Amino acid sequence: MGYWEADSADATDFWISPELAAFYELETDDGFIAIAKVRERYLSESRKILEAHYAACWAGQPYAVQTKLRKPDGTLLDCVVHGEPEFDVHGEVRRVSGIVRDITQETSALRRLADSEQRLADFVSTASDWCWESDADHRLLPYPKSLAGNAAFQTVAAGRKARWELAYAPEDEAAMARHRADMEAHRPFRDFTYTLIGEDGSRVSICTSGKPIFAEDGCFLGYRGTSSDITQLEAARALLDQRTRALEEAHRLGKIGTWSYRLDRGRAVWATELYQLLGFEPDRFEPTYQNIRPYFLDGEADRFRDMQNRVLRTCRTEATDLRMRHADGTVRDLAVICKAEIAHDKVIGIIGTVQDVTERKEAERQLEQLAYSDPLTGLANRALFKRQLASMIESCARDGQSGALLLIDLDRFKEVNDSLGHAAGDELLIHVAAVLRQELGPSPFIARLGGDEFAVLAEERGMSHVALAGLADRLIARLSGPVNLAEGEAFVGATIGIARLPEHGATTESAVRNADLALYMAKEAGRGRAQLFDPVYAQAADQRLDLGRHLRHAVETGALKAHYQPQVDLRSGRVTGFEALLRWTHPERGPISPAEFIPIAESSGLIVDLGLWVLREACRQGRAWLDAGLPARSVSVNVSPAQIWNGDFETAVSAVLAETGFPAHLLCLELTESLFVDHTEQRISRTLTSLSGLGVRLALDDFGSGYSSLGYLTRLPFDLLKVDRAFVDGVSSAPEKRKLLGGIIALSHGLGMTVVAEGAELQAEVDVLRSLKCDLVQGFVFSPPIVSEQAPLVAIGIEHEAGRSQQRRNRVLAQ
Ligand code: C2E
Ligand code: MG
Ligand code: MG
Repeated sequence: MGYWEADSADATDFWISPELAAFYELETDDGFIAIAKVRERYLSESRKILEAHYAACWAGQPYAVQTKLRKPDGTLLDCVVHGEPEFDVHGEVRRVSGIVRDITQETSALRRLADSEQRLADFVSTASDWCWESDADHRLLPYPKSLAGNAAFQTVAAGRKARWELAYAPEDEAAMARHRADMEAHRPFRDFTYTLIGEDGSRVSICTSGKPIFAEDGCFLGYRGTSSDITQLEAARALLDQRTRALEEAHRLGKIGTWSYRLDRGRAVWATELYQLLGFEPDRFEPTYQNIRPYFLDGEADRFRDMQNRVLRTCRTEATDLRMRHADGTVRDLAVICKAEIAHDKVIGIIGTVQDVTERKEAERQLEQLAYSDPLTGLANRALFKRQLASMIESCARDGQSGALLLIDLDRFKEVNDSLGHAAGDELLIHVAAVLRQELGPSPFIARLGGDEFAVLAEERGMSHVALAGLADRLIARLSGPVNLAEGEAFVGATIGIARLPEHGATTESAVRNADLALYMAKEAGRGRAQLFDPVYAQAADQRLDLGRHLRHAVETGALKAHYQPQVDLRSGRVTGFEALLRWTHPERGPISPAEFIPIAESSGLIVDLGLWVLREACRQGRAWLDAGLPARSVSVNVSPAQIWNGDFETAVSAVLAETGFPAHLLCLELTESLFVDHTEQRISRTLTSLSGLGVRLALDDFGSGYSSLGYLTRLPFDLLKVDRAFVDGVSSAPEKRKLLGGIIALSHGLGMTVVAEGAELQAEVDVLRSLKCDLVQGFVFSPPIVSEQAPLVAIGIEHEAGRSQQRRNRVLAQ
């Protein structure tokens, strides 16, 4: 600050104090300096103003002007120039003086303050939060700069009320009381949240923080603070809460737990629900792989880890079912879903859900139990067998395991069922199931496929062929023999076909077919035995299949023919009848023996049609011969068991007789002992009696070739006994055979039966047969089977020849 004075309005000089000279950085002449020089320091616009004021001052006007001056180095300074007139006694201005003050620092401080106020105002007005102040009575004061944005607060502040006097939500009551206590105790507070209710019922949630303000003497002045409108945030939080709760509830109800694993942290984090689900305490159990591993059921831990690794590798979400032990020891079924967690295109971990599906699985298992078990024996049924077989084949292919499929067929089961009744049959099946279980133990899979057919799937694990055969033999031994049932004693046996896996079956179908073929071969070989599949069976089966197809075609196109073989009465030398024998000429293979194609027709069911065709053809032929005036001769027709047991054979026979007009007493039906297999004597007897009731004759064919039981002969209504070729062949040279044959013939005669010897090829055999009093002979020695056209001629030839040899014999006798 400096002083100046001028003594005359006209003077061009005036006096300035040394401070001013220094301030202006001007040289003076003992304090005197040209006014113009000083004025040069001022900016041109202030210069005029100052000049005017200075002139006015000489007219008696004091002044104070804020202005700027430029220092020689160019910097600008703020200063206030002040001037005052001094009056003489006459009231005239005598002198003018004043001071000049450098206010640069002052003004820049003020400017800074204004700047900072503006800055604050800018922040506050653009922030979503607002500032507030309350007075010593806690009344909210308007805070104009920041209120513009918030209508709610404007009304609040306009009312000049304390916060607790506002219309707030009733549920805030207690919190508000605490808040009031805080404020009245002049304590700072943070994030106090409350909800204001508008007149229209709208709700605005506010979060506020504040601190008390005290005067220097410690007197409480009020509060200052900030608030923010958190209505939307609250709404979002409420929604989130609600959703979280709903999700938690859903997880709880659905027994779902979640977990995550972060690659960087290298450990799993379980949600509370997951701990609950598995019965662990969150603080006591750390879900590391080592800790969890023992709770998995065998192999499951590795499988689960593999799956997680796969998910991390492929980023493909996977789901699986696992079995795990709960902390309480019970086994739980868990449905697990694993998903890769990805951030910025990088896999950062894995997240998953675990759902306890024990109850559902249990229900499924029960359903499965119902759907897949045989209600009678409790064993698995065919459907489950198929599944199990498929999975065994799969594991053979996958893990190089091996196994065996055993198909077990009971022998004579039908007999038990027929003779002792179904209850006994059921009892027997239950017994068999029990025996199988006992003999095999729990590990092999046992199923009842239906009827009297059982299957066993054994994991071989190094079992040799011999051991496998041993197992089969043991089963047969255990299943053969008398079984005591409530209804009586049953005598059954078992036959087993075996296919080894994987070599004998790459699919369930081929495995079953091959085991079945082995079973078929075992049955063919005489039942009560086990047979391992051999690939040649399949070839044979294929051939049979092929033959079967052609045969059906042959039946349809009439490529079959009946040939006739004469039967000669040894006493009279007359041809008393013919046996009709089927002949088939295969388009590629030429003539095929009935010994080959009849069994195929039998196993395919074709025999029923085929047999009926032969029967009709033979009767038609017999009738034609009668009509041609030939002597009455019988016609024998071979009948397969299937014809008798499948369908109404008796009706078919009488229909054919009626249709052809062939006399019933000339028809002879040839049956073999295979008829007796699987049927009770009662049933057989009933059937045969009704057949012979039609007036036809019945012959027991091939006697002596199978398991002949003379007992049958005494009780069943057979008219003829055809002795098998095996007895006839070589009878002329083997005395024991001759004795045996003699016995059979005598016995048959004793039972009133006519004896036919089959397959005599030599005259010597005929001679022996004659001496043994055999009634009829059929064999190549007289004629092979021949076409129908030739049959009458051949018969004449035979009879003629017989007459001549009779004459020869008579001559010999006469000599
Ligand atoms: P089978 O009923 O025992 O017929 C007798 C078989 O012995 C016939 O064989 C016949 O040709 C043959 N034979 C006759 N005399 C001699 C002989 O002196 N020496 C030799 N080695 N064999 C002789 P075939 O015609 O091959 O028939 C075989 C079997 O096929 C028949 O045996 C019969 O069981 C069956 N069969 C033939 N035709 C029919 C038919 O129409 N229906 C049924 N169900 N089976 C038939
Ligand atoms: Mg025959
Ligand atoms: Mg025969």
